[in-house]
Amino acid sequence: MPTFDRRTVLMSAGGLALFAGLDPFTRAWAAPKFSYDPFALGVASGDPWPDGFIIWTRLAPKPLELHAGMPALAVPVRWEVAEDERFARIVRAGEEIARPELAHSVHVEVGGLQPSRPYWYRFLVEGGEASPVGRVRTAPAGGTLPNRVRLGLAGCQSYPQGWYDAWRHLSEEPNLDAVFHYGDYIYENGRTSSYVIKDAAGQVADRTHASDEIYSLDDYRGRYAQYKADPDLKAAHHAAAFIMSFDDHEVDNNWASVFDQDGTAPELFLLRRFAAMQAWYEHMPVRKAQFPRPDGLTMYRRLDYGRLLRMHVLDTRSYRSDQLCDRPEEQACRREAGPDSTMLGTAQEAWLGEGLRNDACWNLIAQQVRTMPLVRRQPDGSPGPIATDSWDGYPAARARLVRTIVERNLTNVVIATGDAHIHNVGVVPARDDELDGPAAATEFLGTSISSGGDGVADSAARQAYLRYNPHFALMNQQRGYQTFDITPAEWRADIKALDQVQSPGGQLNTLARYVVSPDKPKLHIG
Ligand code: FE
Ligand code: CA
Repeated sequence: MPTFDRRTVLMSAGGLALFAGLDPFTRAWAAPKFSYDPFALGVASGDPWPDGFIIWTRLAPKPLELHAGMPALAVPVRWEVAEDERFARIVRAGEEIARPELAHSVHVEVGGLQPSRPYWYRFLVEGGEASPVGRVRTAPAGGTLPNRVRLGLAGCQSYPQGWYDAWRHLSEEPNLDAVFHYGDYIYENGRTSSYVIKDAAGQVADRTHASDEIYSLDDYRGRYAQYKADPDLKAAHHAAAFIMSFDDHEVDNNWASVFDQDGTAPELFLLRRFAAMQAWYEHMPVRKAQFPRPDGLTMYRRLDYGRLLRMHVLDTRSYRSDQLCDRPEEQACRREAGPDSTMLGTAQEAWLGEGLRNDACWNLIAQQVRTMPLVRRQPDGSPGPIATDSWDGYPAARARLVRTIVERNLTNVVIATGDAHIHNVGVVPARDDELDGPAAATEFLGTSISSGGDGVADSAARQAYLRYNPHFALMNQQRGYQTFDITPAEWRADIKALDQVQSPGGQLNTLARYVVSPDKPKLHIG
């Protein structure tokens, strides 16, 4: 059953002037026609620029139902941006149409605002309560040098593997300018999960995926809706802007360009990839530049925080060469780590090369998979398997990136990464065969919000990684996130972990604090 009266919606859709010129505080709303909150997925903001940002919502009164409980109609949605939390000083407002073509999502590219200040935003729909209020900060004006920017680093949020307490803690972090999300916002797998999740009373809770493995556009939409209805995830989006990227699980585990890991015909996999990309766009606070097309979408982009920080957001999935074969008998993979292998593709690699300069105090390469080499050994000390999904599987591409950094004397490159479900801090050596030699960049790899369950603070595997990888400063296999406090003189990273996620109420602990100065890629204990 539709959750609101069809005729009302038709009238609304036909009469867009309905909201025009009406003061939301003097206006008497009609009795709610939505029987359920249309803003059950909350609101979000993203990609701050000096004069604005993106604000997002999706009308979804029943998140787990087909079409999230919405009828196949276009519905007008009013949006407001204010200088204060109580919306006494609304500075921008307008109307957008939530269309069934885009799962009733709304993306508003708000401009004309002041730099370096907080704003509050919300959405309103005929017949429903106002949305929750989100907070967002504009970026500093171009050419200025701000004293400080504070970023969060998080991602990998497998819903069946843990509660989102890390998101709740991150939502309470003071003064965040933005959160970089390194992807795995959803996981594509089906209902079965080996993780036992308990509720606050210690009883086994059902936090499994609500559907089988996802392939179609409606499947992906349903998966996003299930994840986005989580209150802790909503709280994080309401607290700060997100700078979104994607990794593999937004589509399929370990995909690479037109290849999945099962050897599916590329023309078939591309249909799935298009569905996944459309659903990603529909649910993410990203700009029109990220609008999906059948042949893909352009996710890589730059964001500037004055002259303090230039952020290069990379797409390490869409253009990479196929994965190296893990085993000799494997078929659907690349045989050789040849010199022409690519992680970014030709166009993106050239784009990154053009942008990696000394114009800002810091260059942040915000991306998905570990850049640092990872040496693995068998118990007998012989070489272990290569981490083929990370930059280790693309050594020629990594060497080109390192060469660009070294040749330009860029000492201020920080790489922020995810994917591995561990906190891993270290440096990217200038040479793969000299791990304890000079470094080209520092790398902060953030763990997961929930993927991997509780995890452990220490293990034999961790000890072995640290022994064979002298360029690693820290490795920890618990859940959590990182924060970066960035000033012209130093980059401070706080590495934060939770004691549990398979039961709610996990306690947050700062494992370590590192400081980097922009004149040398070297980690200091902070
Ligand atoms: Fe992940
Ligand atoms: Ca991943």
